[in-house]
Amino acid sequence: VGGPQVRNMATVGGNLFAAHPYGDFTAALLALGARVVAVGQGARPLEDLLRDRGRAALIASIEVPRPRNPADFAFAKVSRIKPKGVSVLSIAVHLPREGGRIRGARVAFGAMGPTPLRAAAVERVLEGQALDAATIARAAQVASEGLDPPTDAIASAWYRREVAGVHLRRLLERMGGR
Ligand SMILES: Cc1cc2nc3c(=O)[nH]c(=O)nc-3n(C[C@H](O)[C@H](O)[C@H](O)COP(=O)(O)OP(=O)(O)OC[C@H]3O[C@@H](n4cnc5c(N)ncnc54)[C@H](O)[C@@H]3O)c2cc1C
Repeated sequence: VGGPQVRNMATVGGNLFAAHPYGDFTAALLALGARVVAVGQGARPLEDLLRDRGRAALIASIEVPRPRNPADFAFAKVSRIKPKGVSVLSIAVHLPREGGRIRGARVAFGAMGPTPLRAAAVERVLEGQALDAATIARAAQVASEGLDPPTDAIASAWYRREVAGVHLRRLLERMGGR
């Protein structure tokens, strides 16, 4: 997920607090439904922490549910320079399926807002559906709905909105074949 320097040195705790456009791993944790435990507090959903990071206490541990089927999870980092380029955006998707239908869709973007965040519109489109071409096309259409990506030296907000659906579609097509 991270570049070589980050894989060698950085902590997961630090990634939760990395400023935009960083936080690729946090996007993956969001899609997996991770819960964070701050010192002296109980576990709470990662999205709660991300809503108010400025007032967070020291994070002591992170609980990450293991996907029942590893093939239900996928991640993509979109960067101009590989492997250590800063993200244009990152996408993490967890789509558990029962009887061929998606149950409990979780889709998260990195670099598409001030912090990594869930793509609620995409999740609504995917929930209860089979991962077929029509569903994937509808999900790609709403990829940046409700999101307000920043402009920075890597990409403009306009560019991020334009390409989010393209990369989401490619990722879902890869998963659809599994
Ligand atoms: C060369 C380079 C390449 C990078 N590449 C990537 C990349 O590919 N993908 C990506 O996502 N990011 C990337 N980053 C950013 C990187 O994710 C973060 O810098 C890193 O994860 C932070 O980890 P750290 O342990 O160094 O945290 P620090 O820099 O030590 O801390 C970051 C912030 O988090 C707070 N913090 C740290 N741990 C905790 C805790 N347990 N509880 C509460 N607060 C805490 C600190 O107080 C600080 O405010 C890159 C950074 C560099 C320098």
